[in-house]
Amino acid sequence: MLILESFVGGEWVRGSGSPQALVNPTTEEKVAETSTVGVDFARAVQFARVEGGAALRAMTFAERGEMLRTLSRAIHKNRDALIELAIANGGNTRSDAKFDIDGASGTLAFYAELGKELGAQKHLLDGDGIQLGRSPRFWGQHVFLPRRGVAVHINAFNFPAWGLAEKAACALLAGMPVISKPATSTALVSFQIMKLFNEANCLPRGALSFVAGSPGDLLSHLGGQDVIAFTGSSDTGSAIRLMPNLQKASVRINVEADSLNAAVLGPDVSQGSETYRLFLNDVYRDMTQKAGQKCTAIRRVFVPQDQFENVRDELAERLRDTGVGDPSLDGIVVGPVATAQQKRDVTAGIELLAKEAAIVVGSGPFEPKGVPTGKGYFVPPTLLAAQSADQLARVHDHEVFGPCSTLISTSGKAADVAAQVAKGGGGLVSSVYTDDRDFAADMIFEIGPWHGRLVMGSEKIADQTPGPGTVLPHTIHGGPGRAGGGEELGGSRGLLFYSQRTAVQGSRPILEAILGKKETKG
Ligand code: NAP
Repeated sequence: MLILESFVGGEWVRGSGSPQALVNPTTEEKVAETSTVGVDFARAVQFARVEGGAALRAMTFAERGEMLRTLSRAIHKNRDALIELAIANGGNTRSDAKFDIDGASGTLAFYAELGKELGAQKHLLDGDGIQLGRSPRFWGQHVFLPRRGVAVHINAFNFPAWGLAEKAACALLAGMPVISKPATSTALVSFQIMKLFNEANCLPRGALSFVAGSPGDLLSHLGGQDVIAFTGSSDTGSAIRLMPNLQKASVRINVEADSLNAAVLGPDVSQGSETYRLFLNDVYRDMTQKAGQKCTAIRRVFVPQDQFENVRDELAERLRDTGVGDPSLDGIVVGPVATAQQKRDVTAGIELLAKEAAIVVGSGPFEPKGVPTGKGYFVPPTLLAAQSADQLARVHDHEVFGPCSTLISTSGKAADVAAQVAKGGGGLVSSVYTDDRDFAADMIFEIGPWHGRLVMGSEKIADQTPGPGTVLPHTIHGGPGRAGGGEELGGSRGLLFYSQRTAVQGSRPILEAILGKKETKG
């Protein structure tokens, strides 16, 4: 049996005590086990802070960028082997696995390029210098400096490759060492990536540590220069935020949590048009890709009354024709959800939503293909529909983290739709499909403040957008309220969480000699 180890204090360490099992969600067979009992987290934190931090801060952005490029290549070179692990431990189809793994190498490559652009510096200036005195001699300059602690990254089970890579890319480029902890249930892919990273031999000692399983007392060792970037459920995010030692030391915490992302079909869009097809494809993809286990997946679909039946029937037809079963087989689009607990949660969530919306597809007997009878954590793609938005409550506050969305009929008026979307209490991303500029403008201004990202789908971009479910490193990921209030990525914005903004006041020539000054064009 494969036993996962943690990489802390510059070495691989095996936990003791009774291990946790990692299983294949298609067959329910054990694929590995792990434990972190006995791992010395106090030493792990100190080692990362001291050795990793010093080494990273000694490097320029360009050098850190080169390091990220090597990590990106290490993943890409081993893509096929990683895909097999994602099928075995994540229930991913080949396409699901590529989405995660290519997302990881792509994000690292993106930040490698940013490092190259930032060049030979080791700190970032924040805006232009400011005259503070009677004359420009007394000067102020805001500067971003790498924090002196460790960045603890805690990730959800659904993106074991991308989650690790996107967070690590920003922290390492900013000059902060990382301790990365994937969700235990699907940690096999992250574990293998960590091994590949070590073999690539580009990381300074202590720059990246890895916890294969429970975090134990890791968070109790953090202090005021450390940061936590967490992705997972709201409940765990809140529990971490409430830890007294973290509150006392004002540990910076970024939370990426649940989200009831919406898709809105504009009243101008006619059935069969390019914008209509884009909308339908995005909803279908988000319901089926990774068995709906994406934080960005569309959960609520708002359509004008006159399109309600068309959308319901077309989506239902596609979902009924969707192959569900062993994700390693050709023709399978939806694999199992990741764990037995996930299946219980998703099933219970669908039952809850079915109290206020009708199940259109997904109820009744169901046999996943190519799977021994009774085995695997399968949930059929499930579409619910509500003829009226009036009586809905749970649809707006209960995230079913699986292949499930609810179609909701609306008046199609921007103000009404915006009010419905806002009932989600803050989301990562919502998408609006319209070619009407007035409707687009109303939606941007009305629902924008509730979201970290909006995708404005129209015929002009139909052949270019990857849809709302894909997180691009150029723009931010995160959202207010229910979504956790966090923000990651967004190009150089992603580095700021790992940096301290310090206002330095003093003599202009001295500050400019030490910190440099912004290049002004022209
Ligand atoms: P989870 O149960 O909250 O677990 C998330 C992570 O937190 C795991 O690594 C887990 O470790 C760890 N954890 C659990 N208790 C902890 C504690 N007391 N202290 C420190 N770490 C702790 O969430 P999940 O079931 O893996 O993920 C599903 C949820 O994540 C969904 O609600 C989804 O919406 C959300 N999600 C959000 C985003 C986003 O970017 N906003 C992305 C993906 C998923 P163990 O696995 O070892 O328990």
